Amino acid sequence: MALNERDFFTEQPEMKPMALSCPKCGHRQEYQLRWIHRTKKDRIPAGADERDRALFSKLKDYLVRAEDFATCGKCKRRFEIPSHQSLAMYEPLAGLPVDDYDQ
Ligand SMILES: [Zn+2]
Repeated sequence: MALNERDFFTEQPEMKPMALSCPKCGHRQEYQLRWIHRTKKDRIPAGADERDRALFSKLKDYLVRAEDFATCGKCKRRFEIPSHQSLAMYEPLAGLPVDDYDQ
């Protein structure tokens, strides 16, 4: 059984502020958003093969945004948070293949 990237992390919810501009009225403010903080495990899980080991050595802690919408504090309209802002690194994830990253 192949390991999933998730097997390498422990997950924890975390609130983080994020500055967003409302696409409807242009109002910019900070939102407290829920994220999932993925912390790399101290050791690689049992059953890891060579490929898993190579991947594991490159992994860093990161955050995945758990909310897709924010409500503007000015015009009160709901808007979608741009998807390119759905991940945040604690450090750059250099060299990690995109295929693995998206699983
Ligand atoms: Zn607005």
